[in-house]
Amino acid sequence: MHTLLTHHLYPLSVGGSLAAFLTGRALGWPLELIVVACSLMVLASGALLERVMPFEARWRTPHGDGRTDAVSAVTLIGLVDPAIKAALPVLAVALLPDSGALPLFPTGVPFLLQVLLAVAWIEFAKYWSHRAHHTVTALWWLHALHHSSQRLYWLNNFRFHPLNHLLNALASMLPLWLIGAPTDVLLGAAAVTQPILMLQHANLDLRSGYLNRIFSTNEVHRWHHSTRPDEANANFGSVFVLWDRVFGTYRYSNRSNAPAGVGLFGDGGGYPSGQSYARQLSSMFTPACCHV
Ligand SMILES: [Zn+2]
Repeated sequence: MHTLLTHHLYPLSVGGSLAAFLTGRALGWPLELIVVACSLMVLASGALLERVMPFEARWRTPHGDGRTDAVSAVTLIGLVDPAIKAALPVLAVALLPDSGALPLFPTGVPFLLQVLLAVAWIEFAKYWSHRAHHTVTALWWLHALHHSSQRLYWLNNFRFHPLNHLLNALASMLPLWLIGAPTDVLLGAAAVTQPILMLQHANLDLRSGYLNRIFSTNEVHRWHHSTRPDEANANFGSVFVLWDRVFGTYRYSNRSNAPAGVGLFGDGGGYPSGQSYARQLSSMFTPACCHV
């Protein structure tokens, strides 16, 4: 049982989510509910498994970050995500000509291929958005909230500045709305990607083997949170490592499975790491921001 989980938790999670989604689609069930339910099940499984098979035992205890992470999760899930979901179609309609969405998305090809194409685009857009957040100082100030955590665990998945989250959504999802990607294709993409995201920061001693060369697993993503810039400025992929491999930013070694430290680089460049969620969000307005 232990080996089944350590070696196959990713394929079990993604396969289960996709199977539930396709079954629901065939039977006319509410697809968004299925995606959310599968995501929550994977997230809860990861959180529970952290108690029995952690990668780092010391990451199981709070590092003064629990309140910030909880507030960030509630804000992102309860406010930011619903607002983005409501606003994107409206924004797309406002930007489109009277004739509606540009008929560029290939709706004539098989459904799973449509999902694959949507995922490839979303990954491409998020790769460059993430990379820009590491290279443009003003954007790094937003993204620093995510990297200021000094441990990795299940709740880090939702530790994002709302503007960082919004920019990712605009870059990845708005173009798909504009070119007429069907809603069930977008939900299918979420059914594939959400289980991977829900496990990406998990403090689990997984051994995903060759899947580390396909997915941005917790083993691969761990390097992205290194305190060393040469290790952290890599693995920008959201869910897959495809674009990291294409653009030469893929970093993984099965000989050394973790960076020496997790968190911001050096002294953090003046970022108010460890302070309240509100203080970290508003730091983008302080003089230190964007001139480092
Ligand atoms: Zn990052």
